[in-house]
This record gives sequence, structure tokens and C-alpha cells, in this order.
Amino acid sequence: MSDDCIFCKIVAGQIPCRKIYEDDLVLAFHDINPVAPVHFMIIPKAHVASLAECDESHRAVLGHILLLAPRLARDLGLEDGFRTIINTGRGGGQEVFHLHVHVIGGAKPRPM
Ligand code: 5GP
Ligand code: ZN
Repeated sequence: MSDDCIFCKIVAGQIPCRKIYEDDLVLAFHDINPVAPVHFMIIPKAHVASLAECDESHRAVLGHILLLAPRLARDLGLEDGFRTIINTGRGGGQEVFHLHVHVIGGAKPRPM
């Protein structure tokens, strides 16, 4: 756990969240400031700042998160599809420096 990390505090139960799913490796919860009708994120429980800090030891949790995304998206009614976003570093628009995968859907996405 990183002491000044807001998502570590959510994992530790020190800050509340609207939890969607939890297991030994990951936590999924709704974004506090959603950009679409459904907007949640999946995070590893163990602190890692971003995708750029991941190494071989994160292979399993990264795979787990990506396989979980469509399952949770379906559970939340996104049968038609969803967008996944991983912002990495300040240049990538990352604001919370604990790796998270955004899952967004329920509205027509802007073309990329
Ligand atoms: P980033 O730009 O780092 O990829 O996204 C950070 C996301 O975390 C933002 O969408 C923001 O709304 C969300 N967020 C920041 N603080 C909290 C919080 O305390 N609780 C929840 N549920 N989401 C948060
Ligand atoms: Zn953290």
C-alpha cells in the first residue's frame, strides 16, 4: 500500500466506493465522476503507479483485469459493447497514480 494513494485507501476500505466486484487480485468500482451512464474501473489491489511501471510480475493481474472487463460490462448491461481506457502518465492524462482500467459505455462513444 502506498500511503498517499487514494485507490490504495479505497482497497483498504478507508475511503468508500460503490463496489462492483472484488477478489484476491482486483477491485472494480464505479467512477465518482462518470463520463457516461456506465463508467467503472478495475484496479489491481497491490499498488502499481501505472502501466509504465508494470513488469513481468504484473502479467497475471493485467490479464485478469482484461478478461474481467467484458464480464463486468455485460453484468452492468453493456451487451452492445464498451470502451476501455488506460491513461498512463501525465502525458496520457493520468490523474490517479494507481493503475486502473476505465470501462465506459451506455452512450454513443466519440470516434477515436
Ligand atoms: P485517470 O485520469 O487517472 O485515468 O482517472 C482517474 C479517475 O478516478 C477519474 O475518472 C476520477 O473521476 C476517478 N476518481 C478520482 N478519485 C476518486 C474516488 O475517490 N473515488 C472514485 N470512485 N473515483 C475517483
Ligand atoms: Zn495505490
